[in-house]
Amino acid sequence: MVHGPTAGSPAAASDSLAHGATAATAVATATVAATTATATATAAADGAAAAVSAAPGAAVPKDLPSVDRLLRDEAVTHLMARHGHAFVAAEARRLLEDWRRRAVEGTLAAHELRHLPAELERRCEQRLAPRMRRVINLTGTVLHTNLGRALLADEALQQVLACMGSPNNLEFDLARGERGDRDSLVESLLCEITGAEAATVVNNNAAAVLLGIAALAGGKEAIVSRGELVEIGGAFRMPDVMAAAGARLVEVGTTNRTHARDYQAAIGPQTALLLKVHTSNYAIQGFTASVSEAELAPIARAAGVPLMTDLGSGSLVDLAQWSLPAEPLPQQMLADGCDVVTFSGDKLLGGPQAGLIVGRQDLVQKIRKFPMKRALRLSKLPLAALEATLRLYLQPDRLTQDLPTLRLLTRPVDQIQAQADRLLARVQDAVAPRFAVRVSAMRGQIGSGSLPVETLPSSGLVLTPQLPGKRGVGRALDELLTALRALPLPVIARVQSDELWLDLRCLDEAREEGEFIDQLALLKESLA
Ligand SMILES: *Cc1c(COP(=O)(O)O)cnc(C)c1O
Repeated sequence: MVHGPTAGSPAAASDSLAHGATAATAVATATVAATTATATATAAADGAAAAVSAAPGAAVPKDLPSVDRLLRDEAVTHLMARHGHAFVAAEARRLLEDWRRRAVEGTLAAHELRHLPAELERRCEQRLAPRMRRVINLTGTVLHTNLGRALLADEALQQVLACMGSPNNLEFDLARGERGDRDSLVESLLCEITGAEAATVVNNNAAAVLLGIAALAGGKEAIVSRGELVEIGGAFRMPDVMAAAGARLVEVGTTNRTHARDYQAAIGPQTALLLKVHTSNYAIQGFTASVSEAELAPIARAAGVPLMTDLGSGSLVDLAQWSLPAEPLPQQMLADGCDVVTFSGDKLLGGPQAGLIVGRQDLVQKIRKFPMKRALRLSKLPLAALEATLRLYLQPDRLTQDLPTLRLLTRPVDQIQAQADRLLARVQDAVAPRFAVRVSAMRGQIGSGSLPVETLPSSGLVLTPQLPGKRGVGRALDELLTALRALPLPVIARVQSDELWLDLRCLDEAREEGEFIDQLALLKESLA
């Protein structure tokens, strides 16, 4: 029950104070004194229970204004002009309920009441603030799934901006003036880049695999090597995907070794698909054998069964030219005789989340016409970004400049180290004396399951807690991680061997480096 203070009572004075966030100090002081007096008096009047909790200087529920009274405050009027009555009133109600609870507990100080309008404004802003926010990725993992994977190229951002606020030709053939197919916006590009006969796109690569299996092997058998029955993350496990797609999984070979004869022996009248899965999330090393797509293609062809390969990342350009670990290319897989190849849009390709399916005309058509395709289709938003990203591949010499993923992956280590040298003194100043800072060589990762055993040589800063022993190291690192995440532009770092590592590979020099530096004063404050 809300009890607004009666006019003329000391509580009313505190109410008017609450309204005047900018009230003169003299007035404020006088009123705080009045509020304190009221609190004490009310506590006494309310009996033992209240008296126990209400410490001197604590506010009691009666000191709080009603919602209506709070909304009549001048500062709050301005808030309502900006955000409307409904939103501000709801926030005011919530705030007053919280503070009333605190007053009952005796944890609300009387002097806080004058900050009520300011607190309301803070809460309104907080509630309206974007939930999805930029962060600075200093984890050293370039394609970090938790941090949104590939960064979109400017070209892709511009395309999204240009087309999403307007009607567009998503499914309209401008030349003929009739209904078109959304696939056609990217199909010719994908065919040109990969040499495929046909292409289609869906929501992500998981969807591409599911759809491919369902359309090509639903109600029949699909053969997969036991070494490739991967779990990609979340609930995406190949045996479960098979079941969901309505195909019967036929496992061949063993975990570490599968031979061509294993596939041959398993092929029967019910076989509808041979499936290869790129083991991107782990490496099988030692006594191993697997059958490459090039070896498997003639076996599939002889049996009259299509061969599909799930490349996971799949790079459209040969990464070895920049001394990066090589990833299989869709164009190579098609040249090796694969009938269908699927890969992700937001891994090495450097575009939006999407699942790309390229291959033989008749099979892609079958996939495209399969009813499940409608449920998995790519929306216009990523489609716009994907089309623009694929267009960048028409100028391969420009990719390391224009495509952020390749720009970051090919950043020279000496450039990263020079950046670390530039930042050293400033970071030292922000975290001293609690942490020592040094520039160090380090190893990052491509991420998104690309060759997890290979690491990217990089450079950055290592922060070591300055403590006499091991005790408290974990807490100190936690506190630092938390402080970095709490910055206006959150910084995501990693902990390794009792130290905090800031891998600078992904710290963009043009924009983020300055933003990072600008926040160091705040970091220093929060660690003080
Ligand atoms: C990442 C990956 C997928 C899933 O791709 P998404 O685009 O994330 O859905 C499927 N298969 C393999 C081998 C992968 O590496």
